[in-house]
Amino acid sequence: DATVAQIAAGEVVERPASVVKELVENSLDAGASSVDVTVASGGTDRVVVADDGRGMTGEDLERAVRQHTTSKLGDASDLDGVATLGFRGEALYTIGSVSRMTVTTRPRDAGDSGWRLTVDHGETGDLQPAGRPAGTTVEVTDLFAETPARRKYLKRDATEFAHVNRAVTRYALANPGVAVSLTHDGREVFATTGTGDVRDAALAVYGREVAQSLREVEASPEGSVERVHGYVSDPETTRATREYLATFVNGRSVRDAVLREAVLDGYGGQLANDRYPFAVLFVDCEGVDANVHPRKMEVRFEAEDRVKRAVEGAVRDALLDSGL
Ligand code: ADP
Ligand code: MG
Repeated sequence: DATVAQIAAGEVVERPASVVKELVENSLDAGASSVDVTVASGGTDRVVVADDGRGMTGEDLERAVRQHTTSKLGDASDLDGVATLGFRGEALYTIGSVSRMTVTTRPRDAGDSGWRLTVDHGETGDLQPAGRPAGTTVEVTDLFAETPARRKYLKRDATEFAHVNRAVTRYALANPGVAVSLTHDGREVFATTGTGDVRDAALAVYGREVAQSLREVEASPEGSVERVHGYVSDPETTRATREYLATFVNGRSVRDAVLREAVLDGYGGQLANDRYPFAVLFVDCEGVDANVHPRKMEVRFEAEDRVKRAVEGAVRDALLDSGL
């Protein structure tokens, strides 16, 4: 029932950035080589995510917007291995229950036509033929139009956009082989080129000064931490916010105090007070507790001390290697 769906939707869709996150994850899961995110008024007016992924048949599309339907294997406890990222088979359904969502798609192989379907606050329209190149575009407008209590919790556009920007930035950094672009109110904020090199992605999202200050991190510690790799900025290239510490555990973006402290400790007192470096750091690791809410991007490590030492050591070595 629509009301239940709208209440449940709060678990997945809290703000425009959550819509962006779910849609971008679907695009990445669909094997896209380009993902273009366009938002208006911080995403509160409009979110569009277009990809060149494998697309859907008309039948797939009708199924995709229904509850608990997923074409993907795995479940929420699968943080370690699986490539699929999203909340299990709920995202399109819940987004469609709290907005006006139009999906236009065309499968990569088979079929010469595409399809369009609109879900308006839980009411699914008729499947229509629609032309487009292979891939999928999802447009979301009128977010929370029928749930004023939720709409009221949205912050001003600049704040909502900051959340969107942060999310898309992390996907761009974590997927350097995918060309990811972000456009806000008609202005291109960044566009990565999808070369596969994290440094190129960092150049696109953070600019030349930061990209040139990045030192490569590469370590293969013993035990449960298999690999720590990525880039950290030299101690002079810092900002007054920790938002530039992008950390990924087994390919998934996480915000984690243990990792953050470990990165900062790796600088061994070289950072000015209340300044944060740039980091794009991937930790490949066993013993990650995935028993957390998928929206929160949190993890727990079984061997927390070991992870901390591994990351701190890897960052320290990277800074030493570059002669600092
Ligand atoms: P989940 O991602 O957990 O499977 P979603 O509700 O996000 O659930 O998506 C439902 C299904 O719709 C997916 O399993 C996939 O088959 C299909 N789908 C969604 N977005 C895309 C896309 N961008 N390209 C291709 N298929 C998609
Ligand atoms: Mg999904």
